[in-house]
Amino acid sequence: MRALVYQGPRLLTMEDQEVPVPGVDEVLLRVRAVGICGSEIEGYLGFNSLRVPPLVMGHEFTGEIISTGPTKQSVPEVGRLVTVNPLLSCGDCVFCRAGMAHVCGQRKLIGAHRPGAFAEYVLVPAQAIIPLPPTVDATIGALSEPLAVALHAVNLGQIKSAHGVVVWGAGSIGLLAICAARLAQPAHLIAVDTNAARLEAARVAGATAVFDARETHVVDEIRHLLSDVAHTVVLDAVGRTVTRQSAVAAAGPAGRVIFLGLHDKETPLEINAVIRNEVQMQGSYAYTMPEFRHAVTLLAEGRVPTGPWLEVRDLSQGAESFAELVDRPGVASKIILEP
Ligand SMILES: [Zn+2]
Ligand SMILES: [Zn+2]
Repeated sequence: MRALVYQGPRLLTMEDQEVPVPGVDEVLLRVRAVGICGSEIEGYLGFNSLRVPPLVMGHEFTGEIISTGPTKQSVPEVGRLVTVNPLLSCGDCVFCRAGMAHVCGQRKLIGAHRPGAFAEYVLVPAQAIIPLPPTVDATIGALSEPLAVALHAVNLGQIKSAHGVVVWGAGSIGLLAICAARLAQPAHLIAVDTNAARLEAARVAGATAVFDARETHVVDEIRHLLSDVAHTVVLDAVGRTVTRQSAVAAAGPAGRVIFLGLHDKETPLEINAVIRNEVQMQGSYAYTMPEFRHAVTLLAEGRVPTGPWLEVRDLSQGAESFAELVDRPGVASKIILEP
């Protein structure tokens, strides 16, 4: 089978590999669509210790059921289009038993700890499979995982209709966060980015106002616009020092900041201002299985508009697509590859 293999920083090659054989409780899928994730771009650049070459990455995917190894679990019929929760946990620790498998200390990711879906076939655990409703096609289904990431952050934000919401970063996660936050019908839904095309996509997704982050007084302007709400929820989908600091400032008194972008390892924050303003700060990582299923339902309901932000290409264009997302990020913030 054809597979896109990460060989080292900035090096991806197409290789011919054996089609894997499903073991106990495993299912073989023929991959139909697989998205390139921001975390994989960090991996591609060699900045992510989870991704050790040689590795087939790819954790945002859909595929058809081909065959199943020995198992007592129920598996959808052969040919059924499914997606997969790629975050695998031990199922046994205090966190797993409390319904928080996403913070399990033993968690493993398909496409990092085991081969992922940038290939014609991928092996997945039967229990991670989620069948797609008929209204979700292979491409849209590949948005389930990033939408679940966005949905988890929005859920932690506990957004109400009286709140203001600011989403910092209108890449694919920010855009999907806007789609998810919109469901709570907040009084303001503001997107901030430096890319005009991405801000336009944010408007289409439901942002009520957009700001160019390079404007000098962008935080003041956002606070001015939010002067009629008592609570603001800011989601930082970027994770750079400047966006984290801006997010805390934009939250204002009694605000809440959800950090989900992973970029800079450390960020100095003005904690005295956080204390005096009673700003709540919360990290957000991945998703729970119920949130993943909810993301699939939202896609089936057509809650995520497609547009130029979403681009589909052949797997053979994988290497150039990674390079493009790093060197010349353009209108397309999510590139989906088809093996
Ligand atoms: Zn991802
Ligand atoms: Zn666990």
